[in-house]
Amino acid sequence: MTQAPEHAIARPANPAPAAQPATATAAPVRKARPNGQWKIDGLDPLNHNEEFKQESAPLLVRERIENIYSREGFDSIPGDDLHGRFRWWGLYTQRKPGIDGGRTATLEPHELEDPYFMLRVRVDGGALTTDQLRTIAGISNDFGRGTADITDRQNIQMHWIEVESVPEIWRRLEAVGLSTTEACGDCPRVILGSPVAGIARDEILDPTPVIEEIQERFIGDPSLANLPRKFKSAITGHPSQDVVHEINDISFVGVEHPELGKGYDLWVGGGLSTSAHLAERLGVFVAPEEAADVWHGVVQIFRDYGYRRVRNKARLKFLVKDWGAAKFRQVLQDEYLGRALPDGIAPPPPSAENDHVGVHPQKDGRFYVGVAPTVGRVSGDILARLADVVEQHGSGRIRLTPHQKVVVLDVAGEEVKSLSIALREIGLEARPSEFRRRTIACTGIEFCKLAIVETKEAAATAIDELEKRLGDTSRLKPITLNVNGCANSCGRIQTADIGLKGQLVLGDDGEQVPGFQVHLGGGLASKDRDTAGLGRTVRGLKVTADGVADYVERVTRRFEKERSGDE
Ligand code: SF4
Repeated sequence: MTQAPEHAIARPANPAPAAQPATATAAPVRKARPNGQWKIDGLDPLNHNEEFKQESAPLLVRERIENIYSREGFDSIPGDDLHGRFRWWGLYTQRKPGIDGGRTATLEPHELEDPYFMLRVRVDGGALTTDQLRTIAGISNDFGRGTADITDRQNIQMHWIEVESVPEIWRRLEAVGLSTTEACGDCPRVILGSPVAGIARDEILDPTPVIEEIQERFIGDPSLANLPRKFKSAITGHPSQDVVHEINDISFVGVEHPELGKGYDLWVGGGLSTSAHLAERLGVFVAPEEAADVWHGVVQIFRDYGYRRVRNKARLKFLVKDWGAAKFRQVLQDEYLGRALPDGIAPPPPSAENDHVGVHPQKDGRFYVGVAPTVGRVSGDILARLADVVEQHGSGRIRLTPHQKVVVLDVAGEEVKSLSIALREIGLEARPSEFRRRTIACTGIEFCKLAIVETKEAAATAIDELEKRLGDTSRLKPITLNVNGCANSCGRIQTADIGLKGQLVLGDDGEQVPGFQVHLGGGLASKDRDTAGLGRTVRGLKVTADGVADYVERVTRRFEKERSGDE
């Protein structure tokens, strides 16, 4: 018998059996298969993930990590903790080196994994001080063999972490106000925030108070820690719409309403993976002081009505698709907020570049400087040197972006040039080539157990090659290149001009080799594109991993030759 989850949702009373018509010929009524919606179907778990979440609340695994597993070692960790609950604290086992992508689908998780972990540090809003940066750098160098990647969700991930080190890592992170709480798992993940919140001269409103309120009130709240699946949030008040709002479960996009003033337009139900949906506007205006409550209402809808029977149908996007925006809004207002929300206005198309690369004025007369690490890869040493360089130039704050970039805040005009040179010396370029600027890549086979191909190195090699072959491509509209190691879409393949999905493909000699299925024509709203659209799989169009630069070069040259007008 499983325990009820920690928060009390009354199991719906069994309805009294309906009187059957007194006829022998009535066809038997077939009961619809339950979707695992708690408010409709009750709490009975319909798959193993739901079972282990109810058996022991995932957040409670921290105590066992501190008191048992970190003392007794990797082999003492039972499967449901190792492959399940550890995620709620940002820990995934990592892939054993040397297992090729052809074996990914044929091996059990324990056969694919090393006794080491990927550790994800959540960085809500991407906001870090130099002290926090140095702490992460120290953890990377002391416990993670110097590894560090900036993710496209404004997190930092490290690898090679041993369970024995985890309590000390938490101690160091928490001493500087960071955590790994709910960095992964079926819960509210990191909140994407505008990387230029509170400082940009052209900002509509600063989302920082809303991010802080959500963090304080709800992150780590046991009543929200057993959702059907992950829940992704984003909030921006910048007119460039810089938080990929179309592909989050919930997004708040800053607007200026002609009568109600500054606030947010609410979007729900975005997500990619193998069944991509763009988020829908609910058509409501959310005042800044109400945003955290509205966020809470939407998370509770997901918890109570989200589909739990099959995991690949458990994201909020499926519920939004079935209900539609009007019903979703009604349920939010009637059952969770107890009041109607005013009608909202749609945000205008983005008015500026949304990756914040380059030098830009702040509202206080200073500048922010956005730089591009190649496909988000940095290291403990680079992060430590970044902290030093930032402080030497009079700043103490940086922000990570949802495009795997870094923004240095609060730079005096006379420091900009020297800062840019110092950052270039550690591989962080304020004037990157178009391809270095606009390429992102997921973790790939180097560490990810689901991967089929390598991604970061393939993308970095292609960028180096394209810079040599094509030179300055800024004469073209920006061309985005997103590289994924498998059919999941951590690297957002459907939202790039060229999206590469990792799989095995046939090489010249007819043998299977690592490569990519090509998607073309996707993009999120940007300065050069009014609305988002998902890219299409080009059937039969596959490239080998070694052929990525050749393929992108061909597409780019052909686009330049054949495009019409300002296309
Ligand atoms: Fe791993 Fe696939 Fe996600 Fe890349 S897209 S990080 S390979 S699961």
